[in-house]
Amino acid sequence: MTGKYDWNKRRKKVHRGRRNRRTGGIQIAGVLVVILIFFVMLIGFVTNTDAPVEASGSNRLDKEFPWYLTLVNYQNHIPEDYEPKLVEVQGKEQVDERIYEPLMEMLEAAREGNRGELPLVVSGYRTAEKQQSLYDEKIAEYRKEGYSESEAEELAKQWVAVPGYSEHQLGFAVDINGASYDVYLWLQENSYKYGFIFRYPGDKTQITGVAEEVWHYRYVGAKAAAEMYEQGLCLEEYLETI
Ligand SMILES: [Zn+2]
Repeated sequence: MTGKYDWNKRRKKVHRGRRNRRTGGIQIAGVLVVILIFFVMLIGFVTNTDAPVEASGSNRLDKEFPWYLTLVNYQNHIPEDYEPKLVEVQGKEQVDERIYEPLMEMLEAAREGNRGELPLVVSGYRTAEKQQSLYDEKIAEYRKEGYSESEAEELAKQWVAVPGYSEHQLGFAVDINGASYDVYLWLQENSYKYGFIFRYPGDKTQITGVAEEVWHYRYVGAKAAAEMYEQGLCLEEYLETI
């Protein structure tokens, strides 16, 4: 401490004449440090904001995936001219005919987690028009609560996908109603055996862009569903690994 103090004192006396030059040098060094920090922060920021994009597998759509692994999320539109072959479920909703059998097998088995009752598919395939009306209704709900148009849109997006970006438009996704909440716990533990995944768990919201939906199940095939279940991956993460 003493040494340092003396040095400073001496510098003040001896180098007073050079002070301006020295101060100028320090200022330039300071500016350079600020610029450096700025770039480091910029790189960090860009990396951060890019992370969900990479994680979503949005670039992987060029890669050929089988039909049951088609990714549709807030960044990936349903394929152009998409027209699924539909079949009725429980006399009300419709799904892609290719998922009908595993879906019914799963619902039958889910009786054991649903007080013996058959869980109901309350929403299956949706047309673009249907998705649009659900989306508009959700925005209207938030507008009624006093949110601005843009706020209402942002909030609505967390619950209802923007038309063209909903898995329901594929026909591989279903919303399931049970007699009690227990059926959702049963589904979380058993759906993979039938090729279905708990698509929007709360801990994957940052990647999927969707808040937790315990009722929404998506068909991905038995092999992928088992691997995702065992490794704790959501569909976006899984597509990165194959
Ligand atoms: Zn759904």
